[in-house]
Amino acid sequence: MLELRNVSKTYSVKQGMFSSPKPLKAVNDVSLKIGRGEVLGLVGESGCGKSTLAKILLGLEQPTEGQVLVDGKELGAQNRSELARRIQPIFQDPYSSLNPRKSIYDIISLPLRVHNVGDSASQEKAVREILDIVGLPARVMNTYPSQMSGGQRQRVAIARALIMKPEIVICDEPTSALDVSVQSQILNLLADLRREFGLTYLFISHNLAVVEHLANRVAVMYLGRIVEEASVEGLFDRSRHPYSDALLQSVLTPDPNKGVPDTHLGAAYPNPIAPPSGCHFHPRCAKAMPQCSQVAPQTVATEDGRVECHLFDSAQTSAA
Ligand code: SF4
Ligand code: MG
Repeated sequence: MLELRNVSKTYSVKQGMFSSPKPLKAVNDVSLKIGRGEVLGLVGESGCGKSTLAKILLGLEQPTEGQVLVDGKELGAQNRSELARRIQPIFQDPYSSLNPRKSIYDIISLPLRVHNVGDSASQEKAVREILDIVGLPARVMNTYPSQMSGGQRQRVAIARALIMKPEIVICDEPTSALDVSVQSQILNLLADLRREFGLTYLFISHNLAVVEHLANRVAVMYLGRIVEEASVEGLFDRSRHPYSDALLQSVLTPDPNKGVPDTHLGAAYPNPIAPPSGCHFHPRCAKAMPQCSQVAPQTVATEDGRVECHLFDSAQTSAA
């Protein structure tokens, strides 16, 4: 139902006041498909392009190249109301994504008012219903975000996303700003809502443990590229890409919120303006071979997805 075809997004960035702008390829030739009712987890470290991809899917950024299709129809060809009924976001930080000067009622009903859905009586009814669905009492309607806990605020953000009855929800790190105890409540709520309303999720996180909880499939992103895609079981049982291995190891560390500790990797995350030659991951890869710094690996199909690494493509055999 949601498909990205060879999507790239290049920004022009200046590093210093007198330097000339350089291209930064935030998203580099990404193709992905998310089926109806599926949860695709998109995992990678901060700066890998996940949030840019989310913005492209929400129509907030235009891709430099490639196409985004919803039910076979190009995203850009749909009008704003049509899009809002199909795709809604839930962002990371409920503190900054909710307007502090608006009441909870105003925040949740805003999409209905913007897109002229129903009269004020039916809008109020819809807000009461959705509050109940996300586990908040109706009386919070007249309160403000500052009067709520982080978990309650994220429930408000979920209510605002669902009030348009969307088919697809783009969750960008929806639990990362929350206490660990609250994280699992919100994840369980998202899982329940998916079952109840047949929602399709793109679930973005730097934390593979969070993704395992909810996703059917996982795409691992590194410096703008999808380096591995597999079923959740496939990735956890037999990950192929050395970067996926490092992400899996980081799940076992005491604080998975810290992302991938550099102890699992040979070097720090590279500057995306000057990505390493050949395989972008080679300076950090424990399994790097001589050709890895020279030649970019090909994407190879696997039994339940794909991988982009010389350990699995023909360059391995030709070099051996
Ligand atoms: Fe590591 Fe080489 Fe595979 Fe890149 S291509 S992940 S450097 S083994
Ligand atoms: Mg991000």
